[in-house]
Amino acid sequence: ARLRQVTAAQVQQVAAKYFGDDQLTGGQIDEAFYEELETALLMADTGVKATQALLDEVRRRVKESGATRPVQAKNILADSLTRLLKPLERPLVIGEHQPTVIMVAGVNGAGKTTSIGKLTKHLADAGETVLLAAADTFRAAAREQLAIWADRNTVEIVSQAGGDPAAVSFDAVSAGRARGKDVVLVDTAGRLPTQLHLMEELRKIKRVVQKADASAPHEVLLVIDGNTGQNALAQVKAFDEALGLTGLIVTKLDGTAKGGVLAAIAQEKPIPVYFIGVGEKLEDLETFSAREFALALLG
Ligand code: GDP
Repeated sequence: ARLRQVTAAQVQQVAAKYFGDDQLTGGQIDEAFYEELETALLMADTGVKATQALLDEVRRRVKESGATRPVQAKNILADSLTRLLKPLERPLVIGEHQPTVIMVAGVNGAGKTTSIGKLTKHLADAGETVLLAAADTFRAAAREQLAIWADRNTVEIVSQAGGDPAAVSFDAVSAGRARGKDVVLVDTAGRLPTQLHLMEELRKIKRVVQKADASAPHEVLLVIDGNTGQNALAQVKAFDEALGLTGLIVTKLDGTAKGGVLAAIAQEKPIPVYFIGVGEKLEDLETFSAREFALALLG
């Protein structure tokens, strides 16, 4: 509900000019109208390919249905967008393994550590016991920040100043097994896909985690900032290639992010969006609903 309200406000700023009802009820479905739709989708960060696919589908369905009013075309678009986003709507499943080992990666500032804090609360609220692994051993501030989230959630943390990230992860997974935890969340250092040695470090963490538990990691999540537009798609592709991603968390959708990049992700790299971040507080994590998201995006 919160996402909807806030995003509706963004849409007023950015896309309502095109999508707003008063704009659409009067006119007709002509080339100028399709051009406006295209502009609005591109401005919402939907990307060229997904925009094209969506417009093709709207044109086809407008024809088939005999719709004549722009507001009808808008409803068709909302429907097409929902269908495009639907494969991203999948829950994170815990319980098939004990512990479920979840590795979390992302570029600096995407909201990775904050999301781990929120996810810890979400899991604890669902009755799961959680152990955090501070595999960002390089930055003291990162370890301290994770320790604060551990404190807030009263969960245990495995952390070691200056240690090897893979070794800390190994210890955490081993400790998680020994202590019968339900979930081990591994926080890795922020990095860019272009920092090849750091991408290799991630692969090493994954390999070493596998040594502690042959079936782990069970989930490899990428945290992306909803404000980064098409760059988020590039991040998804690069991290997926390096690690094999199983899910995404998309943050900062409470701000000015248009979130349309999810359409591009659905079109080109459909990896489930387990959660969206809608604020800085512990409870500001929501599950992703394709329908709600599509309606919010289109205003
Ligand atoms: P990291 O470097 O990826 O670990 O990023 P952090 O977790 O430190 O977050 C970077 C900044 O983004 C912090 O100021 C967070 O409070 C903020 N942040 C994270 N998630 C969200 C969100 O969903 N909404 C908002 N508004 N801010 C967020």
